[in-house]
Formats: sequence, C-alpha cells, structure tokens
Amino acid sequence: MRIINKEVLSFDDVILEPQYSELITRKNIDTSIEVNYSNNTLKFNIPIISSPMSTVTEAHMSNAMISQGGLGIIHRYNTIEFQAKLLGYVNHRDYRAAAIGATGDYKERLSELVKNDLSVVCIDIAHGDHILMEKAIEFIRSEYPNLFVIAGNVATGNAYKRLALAGAHAIRTSVGSGSICTTRIQTGHGIPTFQAILDCYEAKREYTESGNDYPTPYIVADGGIKNSGDIVKSLAAGADFVMLGSMLSGTRETPGKVIVQDGKKMKRYNGMASKTAQKNWKGSYNSIEGVASYVPYKGTTSKVINEIMSNVRSGMSYSGANSLQELYDNAVFRKQTPSSHTEGNPHIFNRNK
Ligand code: IMP
Repeated sequence: MRIINKEVLSFDDVILEPQYSELITRKNIDTSIEVNYSNNTLKFNIPIISSPMSTVTEAHMSNAMISQGGLGIIHRYNTIEFQAKLLGYVNHRDYRAAAIGATGDYKERLSELVKNDLSVVCIDIAHGDHILMEKAIEFIRSEYPNLFVIAGNVATGNAYKRLALAGAHAIRTSVGSGSICTTRIQTGHGIPTFQAILDCYEAKREYTESGNDYPTPYIVADGGIKNSGDIVKSLAAGADFVMLGSMLSGTRETPGKVIVQDGKKMKRYNGMASKTAQKNWKGSYNSIEGVASYVPYKGTTSKVINEIMSNVRSGMSYSGANSLQELYDNAVFRKQTPSSHTEGNPHIFNRNK
C-alpha cells in the first residue's frame, strides 16, 4: 500500500482569475482545433464531443454535433448491424465516429463499421488503463492505420503514457466523475476530471519532450462537466476537447421519446452501467455502477451548443484569450474555499429564509 498525501481537485475547488484583455468583441474568438493524424486532418470549430451513450448519441446527435463543428460518437450498446446502419446515416463521411469495446465481438464490429466509412473509433471501456485496451489500440493501429483512435477512460498520467505508447490519438480522462456514475461509491476508485486533466497534461508534456514514435495524444476531458464554466476550466487546464453526456442529454436529437411528467417534458438519460441501461442492451445486469434518470427536455442541440459556446467565448475573454491555445497560456487557477464556491452561486434566494 502507498498513500499519496496530496488532495485531488475537482472543478468546484478551483476558479480562474480574470486576466487583462485586449479583445474588443467576443464574436471573433476562435474556438477551433485542428487534429492531425496519420497524414489526415480533421478540423473542428468547437472542441465538443457528444458521449457514446445510448441516450445521447445515435445518428441524429452525430449529425447535429458535426453541423455545429464538433463530433458525436455513436454508442456501441446495440447490435453490430444496427450500429453500422446508424453510422451510415451520418452525413459527413470524414466525421463518422463510433464506439467499440475491447473484448468479445469488437473486431467484427469494427470491421462492419469500417465498411460504413468509419473515420474515428472510440474504444470505450470504463477502466481504460488495461492490457486489453493496449492490445485493442495496437490491433487497430496496425490493421486500420487511417482511423483516428480515441481510447479511455484513464485517470492518471502513467495511464496516459501507456495508451500513448500503444498508439492512441486521443485519450478520455477521468474515472468516476460522470453525473450518472456510482463507480466511486461502488468501488472506491476514481479521480476527479479536473485533477485527471492536470495529471494527464503533465504526462503529455513529458511524453512529447521524450520524443516517441507515435504522436502525442489529445486529451478529452470526460465526465462531471456540469456547466459551461467547467468546460472553460477543462480547456484552460489543458484538455483539447470536452466530452458531454448530461449537458446534451434531453435534447431533441438524443435517442428516445419525450414524455410528460407533472406537465413537464422529459427525456431519459441513463448511465451505461446502470441497471436500466444494462437490461436494455444485454437483457441482464451485473456490477451496477451507474444510475438512470429522466432529465428536462432541452430543445435542439444547436440551441444548447450555441448557449454553451457563447459562454465559453465569454470565459475566454475573461482570460484575455483569442484562441484555445491562448486560453491555456493565459489561464491562472486559484484554489477556492467552499464558501467562495457558495458565493459564486446566486445567493439572494437564501437570504430571506
Ligand atoms: P456526464 O457528462 O457527467 O453526464 O458524464 C458522462 C460520462 O460518464 C460518459 O462519457 C462516460 O465516460 C461516463 N459514464 C457513462 N455511463 C456511466 C455509468 O453508468 N457509470 C459510470 N460512468 C458512466
């Protein structure tokens, strides 16, 4: 046993110090990111990816995200045929993205997806710092060298380096942070997303400096991002992308029907390791590490993304940043106390109680 006597930080433990700004208008702030890999380039106008979950991303969400300049990864909790069919409905071939596992029929699944012009594959497993993950990455890099490979989830710098050495192009970071996640309660394991970004960014820097055969993987902050402030904090801390589940749940383009509960429109949002989700896709369940719930209907994805991006640009202007690189360069984080976090929320409503 070893104990590291240093606390881990989550989004609410830190706050960004406003910086001097020379930006006249927020409209021109550039939130794009260009991704280069294996002689290919993918350009994104926004650094946002919708999560490969059965109540978040199928073809409609994927198309909505691509038209906003981001990406949507079609989930893998379905039959191979159905997933391949969904991928075929994605309008833009260069941005066809889908998830697979690292065991069972994953190779057959991948081969069907590739027949439907897959460009981005996400090896989607809960504990990504695993030998099966390394093997899956190595297999894909040698058999399908034109695919962009997203691997994860991992929570430490060492895990980042292991997946980088295996050949991942991008790595999802954090374990146990998701809004629908009970992994930390059930297993006692995890690392908050903000801390995982910091640790993986440090590993990213070391990996780049040490000079390796494979390019440096991008960091995808995933899990527990609950508002646009957390997105700004993620990008300022060194994430290249953020992956959203709950923030995009309940939108028009998510799979599932709108229901009316007590006069309010709602949609389902299920953790993939919840009893409900497991029963839906495999008919049985084991090791429940998530919850399932209804969330308010949010309207179109484009409306939600526009609101988010307007806030992200505003956040960038508070750091005097014209681009995502400048946001990272200019960002100064301060640790905050619980009372300073409380002060950051509207507190007028509590006063007259
Ligand atoms: P959210 O954006 O906070 O809602 O988190 C979404 C992320 O939680 C996903 O991208 C997954 O990494 C993770 N996740 C999805 N389903 C589960 C689950 O059932 N248990 C634990 N984590 C999950």
